[in-house]
Amino acid sequence: MVTAIVGANWGDEGKGKITDMLAETSDIIIRFQGGANAGHTIINNYGKFALHTLPSGVFYDHTTSIIGNGVALDIPKLFREIRDIEEKGVPTPKILVSDRAQMVMPYHVLFDGYEEERLAGKSFGSTKSGIAPFYSDKYAKIGFQVSELFDDEASLKDKIGRVITQKNVLLEHLYGKPLLTVDEVYATLMEYKEMVEPYVCDVSAFLYEAIKEGKNILLEGQLGSMKDPDHGIYPMVTSSSTLAAYGAIGAGIPPYEIRKIVTVVKAYSSAVGAGEFVSEIFGDEADELRRRGGDGGEFGATTGRPRRMGWFDCVATRYGCRIQGTTDVAFTVLDVLGYLDEIPVCVGYEIDGTVTKDFPVTTKLKHAKPVYKVLPGWKCDIRGITKYEDLPENCRNYIEFIQQEIGFPITMVSNGPGRHEIIYRNAE
Ligand code: GDP
Repeated sequence: MVTAIVGANWGDEGKGKITDMLAETSDIIIRFQGGANAGHTIINNYGKFALHTLPSGVFYDHTTSIIGNGVALDIPKLFREIRDIEEKGVPTPKILVSDRAQMVMPYHVLFDGYEEERLAGKSFGSTKSGIAPFYSDKYAKIGFQVSELFDDEASLKDKIGRVITQKNVLLEHLYGKPLLTVDEVYATLMEYKEMVEPYVCDVSAFLYEAIKEGKNILLEGQLGSMKDPDHGIYPMVTSSSTLAAYGAIGAGIPPYEIRKIVTVVKAYSSAVGAGEFVSEIFGDEADELRRRGGDGGEFGATTGRPRRMGWFDCVATRYGCRIQGTTDVAFTVLDVLGYLDEIPVCVGYEIDGTVTKDFPVTTKLKHAKPVYKVLPGWKCDIRGITKYEDLPENCRNYIEFIQQEIGFPITMVSNGPGRHEIIYRNAE
């Protein structure tokens, strides 16, 4: 059976923890989109890890971890990550890389930085990992697929020549930066070839057989619904689809095989980068939530940037869950809210004098003001609780109120960052 694990919000909902947890009973875990621009933090018996490219299933020796064709593959970063986990005592993971995945080139990273510099104050808040230039090239059909590393030298050099002619015009005239040469790009690709060769695989054929054999497969999403280029807060989005539906494409499996869609929803809001964020909070209130949030504070796993903080947003989450096709909600980081006397929850948006519960397009979102309902806090530490009935009443009320507002069943409640800190519940 195939299960997708995706985010309903802006990312950092705790998908890594949920994937690591579900991987215990899975055979294959696949990254299907995005690149090394965001990270998952995972805490397990080997220690604490920030994964950027590797799927969050690499900590078990019974799993196969796959980089799907939809990923922006930064080969040196992938290998650094493999080395890092091995150095911390994790057994060498079984990894497969799709022969159809495309590679982030060093110039994509440079272009990302140059463009942010050019846009200055109007930038997108990119992590400068080369993701937007990478996906632009992929769809402009001037990207490099892993399979092309195995092409003959003349054909590959010919293509590099055509691609860099275009790049060099921009480098010279728009950015005023050093130019690229065919030999330098070719040498880089040959280094990548040596690194990736042992892992290259026809992933969709591998998964076709795995599905036939009844294997348990997880699709691990990066970021969340709000960052989807079609359905999110365009243009402050990422460059590949963050939706479960894209899992079929970015892994190479039939869409109808995705039977379960676990949408991870955080008990409060956080976001990185620029963009609309209606329930955002500021000042001391935000600082305190940021300091107490996640595991060791809400700071980017890749960049270390402080995350923007906000109260739970029912409007965005209901939409985020709907657009994912949610079958189950995993409600995470609830333990963090134990310090609050009262917890505001955004239940509507006021736009030009009218209150709506429907998530609007970005042009309208800009004018939205949050409408809050304030719920009582539970004022205690809920870590260590394993049964839903044992949670304090106000805590259960918070969960049930949110379930009612978002309209999707909360079947898992995460009350700590550890692998087994989870409470299963019957959402009826
Ligand atoms: P992802 O990108 O969706 O995987 O999320 P991140 O890893 O960026 O952020 C989630 C953070 O919250 C990580 O530091 C996790 O260790 C932490 N986390 C996940 N679930 C829980 C939870 O239930 N309670 C607490 N306190 N932290 C959690």
